Amino acid sequence: MRFETRAIHAGQEPEAVTGSVNVPIFQTSTYVQDGVGAMRGGHDYARTINPTRTALQECLASLEGGAHGVAFSSGMAAISAILGTFRTPTRTLAMNDVYGGTYRLFAKVLEPQGHTFEYADLGDLEAVENALTRGPGLVWIETPTNPLLKIVDIAAIAERAHSVGAQVVVDNTFASPYLQQPLELGADIVVHSTTKYIGGHSDAVGGIAVTNDDARAEQLVFLQNAIGSVPGPLDCFLTLRGAKTLAVRMREHCANARRIADALIASPAVSHVLYPGLPDHPNHAVAARQMRDFGGMISFRLHGGRAAADRALAATGIWSLGESLGGVESLVEHPGAMTHASLDGSGFEVPDDLIRLSVGIEHADDLVADVEVMLANALRR
Ligand SMILES: *Cc1c(COP(=O)(O)O)cnc(C)c1O
Repeated sequence: MRFETRAIHAGQEPEAVTGSVNVPIFQTSTYVQDGVGAMRGGHDYARTINPTRTALQECLASLEGGAHGVAFSSGMAAISAILGTFRTPTRTLAMNDVYGGTYRLFAKVLEPQGHTFEYADLGDLEAVENALTRGPGLVWIETPTNPLLKIVDIAAIAERAHSVGAQVVVDNTFASPYLQQPLELGADIVVHSTTKYIGGHSDAVGGIAVTNDDARAEQLVFLQNAIGSVPGPLDCFLTLRGAKTLAVRMREHCANARRIADALIASPAVSHVLYPGLPDHPNHAVAARQMRDFGGMISFRLHGGRAAADRALAATGIWSLGESLGGVESLVEHPGAMTHASLDGSGFEVPDDLIRLSVGIEHADDLVADVEVMLANALRR
């Protein structure tokens, strides 16, 4: 079955008792047993297993082309569980432009526990080969990256990482499984904040880890239950409902983003447009090869520094000023002061004239008109 079909049917048989087309919200904490230990379908307690969650896990595993999906209460909980399957001390080589919360978890939680981290531009294969000589057990990729929209060649890194015995994780949040399938490119584990494109409606927080590695999946399921950072049934339902329309939404996100990128390029207020769909993006060719399309995230830099950014962000119109991304509504933010404030002290470069757009699926004409107002305001002084 093709992607669009699996999104609607994988893990989602009509419910057995009533034939409900949608997987119900199994809002229960426990299940009756027909005798001591005689559970119905292995259902004993809802931290351990919940049918709404099972449906979500099966659907998202299928969309990533993986055998196992393990859902968590947030993207950070999923990332934390993945690192929890690696013994201390594991050395991790990570992209030098990762989500701020990922950096915070690595630097402030896991490093004090004995893990070590090295950051490099994984878009630079020479830098990667050099770093791989220091023996990492894990390579942590984000692509496209947040907020600089850098692109990492997943297949090239996976091949090199495996040659030194390292495992490869890809945070696929920005691309979504519709645009990019890291397992097929050689990654060992894919992780998402389902809060973003997969949920797609800014109404639920969640995370998922997907892998074909049976032993790793077993460890993830163990941690899901042992640590207990599980998503509730309503959030699983909402995320699953969102996943059904992922393909159609992504096509609109990408088409609208192209229109916005053109408007940004045409503006005298803008100094740089960071979008992998542009032929002058340094890794455009890699993006074109490993992604179906270029996504709905665009960052740009303004002439005139932080003051210009503040002027632009004072006139956002239908673009909501807010953190997060990947929803149907367009969002705009200042990464340096908002999502990536937790990078303080990391040495990562997030320029303060940088603005990040999550291009929604409103009509492109309306989005372009309001971006033009923002840019005109940036030029005013
Ligand atoms: C949001 C995000 C996360 C964290 O996910 P939460 O659901 O907010 O915990 C991780 N990685 C990326 C790329 C993100 O955008």
